[in-house]
Amino acid sequence: MNLSPHQSTKCSSSLERSGEQSPLLGRGRGRSIGIFGGSFNPIHIGHVALAKAALEACGLDEVWLMVSPQNPLKRNMALLDDQLRLEMAHKALEGVEGVKASDYEMHLPKPSYTWHTLQALAKDYPDYRFTLLIGGDNWAHFQRWYHWEDIQRMCDIAVYPREGFAGTFDAPLVNVSSTEIREKVKQGQSIHGLVPEAIEPLVRQYYG
Ligand code: ATP
Repeated sequence: MNLSPHQSTKCSSSLERSGEQSPLLGRGRGRSIGIFGGSFNPIHIGHVALAKAALEACGLDEVWLMVSPQNPLKRNMALLDDQLRLEMAHKALEGVEGVKASDYEMHLPKPSYTWHTLQALAKDYPDYRFTLLIGGDNWAHFQRWYHWEDIQRMCDIAVYPREGFAGTFDAPLVNVSSTEIREKVKQGQSIHGLVPEAIEPLVRQYYG
């Protein structure tokens, strides 16, 4: 999907919607929360840098890093247990003001579609305003997402840049992935500087 020109730098603009007031929930005037979802298997410095950048650039009160649950029907051997990924995310974010790890999706029916998560959030937090943080790579095929039009109507969307894909706000491109970290641990290589220092021992233990 294209980004409209005025959205190219700051995300205070978020993405243009048709301008009408949405009849849906979740457009409250209370706290402004960024939703940053992923498997965080494990969380790494790229995730933390992005969450901090979004907090600042989008003027959010908080970013909730939603650790997505394992789909019980689709066991993925590479995906570490929910509670262990959550534990690392919590520990990695200690002292990172405004960014919180959340197990919210783990209490929802599976599989966890963004559309269902946003609906549940809107019911549980009717006064909050939610901004979905999504990577430029995912934004490129956003129209394939379940209920994508409803998602757009329901919440703000802020697109962060990914290698080769523009965003609607500035965020550093940190060249690191969870896959690379898992592989390095398996091969006995150092992961120093790739994950927050506080979780280095846990990452080595859990993926070793
Ligand atoms: P994997 O290598 O296991 O596929 P990943 O490193 O891409 O994992 P995810 O848990 O899939 O991590 O990431 C959650 C979200 O964080 C994704 O939507 C992705 O766009 C974003 N993300 C991943 N790596 C980075 C990075 N280096 N900088 C900013 N955002 C990132």
